[in-house]
Amino acid sequence: MVFAHDTEQSLGAAVELANSALEPDTLTTVTDLASFFDSWRYTGRHTGDVAELEAVRELRPRLRSILTAGRDEAVEIVNGWLAEARALPRLVRHEPLDWHIHAVDDDSPLPTRIIVETAMAMIDVIRTDEMSRLGLCADDACEGIVLDLSRNRSKRYCSVACGNRNAVAAYRARRAAG
Ligand SMILES: [Zn+2]
Ligand SMILES: [Zn+2]
Repeated sequence: MVFAHDTEQSLGAAVELANSALEPDTLTTVTDLASFFDSWRYTGRHTGDVAELEAVRELRPRLRSILTAGRDEAVEIVNGWLAEARALPRLVRHEPLDWHIHAVDDDSPLPTRIIVETAMAMIDVIRTDEMSRLGLCADDACEGIVLDLSRNRSKRYCSVACGNRNAVAAYRARRAAG
């Protein structure tokens, strides 16, 4: 584990959300958002309506900006987001998690909680000087964000699809050369 569990969860969710905006958009229905909510084990308020979906969709460029920012720039964004949401960090414990941080009320709108959780996670990334854990997909044609939490920093592609496409291309290139 590179970061605390809740930090890794928040980063993973933020990267998935930011990448969902790439073509083809994979967050277009309230059902898509419900799956995202369940798969990342969010708790708290989840209205499940179109307004919430639209608000979460609108977060995606903001998430992309912080996840691809330089370290000092990320500091500015984190401080701005926490001030804007009047974040007040506290430790909480609820199923299925052990002690972790919540920094806004559980009944705050989902988009607010996503923004604050991402900012709290980026605090860890910035403090440990691990911005290099975030990067862009090694596929030339892909703008996906890569979160590399592997021990040997070996993750290069944003998705299994990008990894496979490049493995096939590399294989063909070797065969053509051989
Ligand atoms: Zn929680
Ligand atoms: Zn990719």
